[in-house]
Amino acid sequence: MTTLELERGCATPPAATDGAEPTILRERGQREVFCGLTGIVWLHRKMQDAFFLIVGSRTCAHLMQSAAGVMIFAEPRFATAILEERDLAGLADANEELDRVVDRLLARRNDIKVLFLVGSCPSEVIKLDLSRAAERLSTRHMPTVRVLNYSGSGIETTFTQGEDACLSALAGAAPTSTTKDASLLVVGAVADVVEDQFRRLFSDLGVGPVDFLPSRKAAEVAGIGPGTRYLLAQPYLRDVAGVLDERGAQRLPAPFPFGAEGTTAWLKAAADAWNVDPARFDDVVAGPHARATKALASRRALLDGKRAFFFPDSQLEIPIARFLSRELGVSLIEVGTPYLHRAHLEEELRMLPAGAKLSEGQDVDLQLERCRAARPDITVCGLGLANPLEAEGLTTKWSIELVFTPIQGYEQAGDLAELFTRPIVRRERLAV
Ligand code: SF4
Repeated sequence: MTTLELERGCATPPAATDGAEPTILRERGQREVFCGLTGIVWLHRKMQDAFFLIVGSRTCAHLMQSAAGVMIFAEPRFATAILEERDLAGLADANEELDRVVDRLLARRNDIKVLFLVGSCPSEVIKLDLSRAAERLSTRHMPTVRVLNYSGSGIETTFTQGEDACLSALAGAAPTSTTKDASLLVVGAVADVVEDQFRRLFSDLGVGPVDFLPSRKAAEVAGIGPGTRYLLAQPYLRDVAGVLDERGAQRLPAPFPFGAEGTTAWLKAAADAWNVDPARFDDVVAGPHARATKALASRRALLDGKRAFFFPDSQLEIPIARFLSRELGVSLIEVGTPYLHRAHLEEELRMLPAGAKLSEGQDVDLQLERCRAARPDITVCGLGLANPLEAEGLTTKWSIELVFTPIQGYEQAGDLAELFTRPIVRRERLAV
């Protein structure tokens, strides 16, 4: 976890006016961030034959142990190669050490098919070139194991950027497809249950072939080329989108698949690219859409009229705010996001209610002042802010749970709403 001191920003975010693009307050001040290593917690569960070797310090190892140990059942598919003082002081050849660690690991574990060398603050400080190390080790261990690298360093990142960096490495290494025949690539780590549901829906719509990035197994990685159309399943994948664009793939612009409305619009983007008959589309989505709407109705009764405040943390803030506001009647006090990638969020921004107040970046003290003054019913924030705000009587939701929990798609719409009703119900019970 890191706190960064940047320029001080100004005070209150301006409101959007009816029909106009929201004006955005850009703040550059002290901010709370959580490093990209965290992504390993959900990525290692998705990619069943991948191993993540963090090249870092004891701090990195502790972060991973506590994040993974507390929040999920840890499996031995990530580890930290600890840079000791001798490495940091340049007295030992860190590359030789790394090669030895990797050789030992791969000799013991023949289930590993892709190995990620994950850079950290310490490996970057000593300028250990992990891309060269990955190339060298790949040459040695291919075709059995592909070795890739990315940075999970915590300097000026949000915790979801680790996934973006990891998927960029995968997308860059994916084979080239020369066919012009259209295929769909869903980009972003989604839970297996969500992947299975989407596969069924695409199949019923006649959209395909469909692949997912990341794939569950390294061997299932899709070829990328001019026929590739891709849908983003997460809003924080700017870099991987850049890699895919460079390789000739085309993004299908869409809102993100959160809630009944977002999921329908997301599926429709693919259906339109495949010229699916509108009647067929309606027929395929009618059942799951009705289930999602029903699941949301009971939660709406609890959330309607509640006021939410988002601190910038996961980069999921804008789509989740759109879902809460449009499908659950929540009013938005302020929606903070670490970065606003307009190209990917254009559809989402259009769907925000008039008057929505957005902020990009952070000056945490000023934002805390605004939050305290507004006394929201629910505050979405990072782990570092949640406890102090709870102690002040505010109800919080950890934004990291939005990444750990399966929330995309129709069948998960109720669970997504539940993430927000649960803390409110708990607070109301405590108040009795
Ligand atoms: S990568 Fe940096 S911020 Fe993350 S745990 Fe290691 S030292 Fe801390």
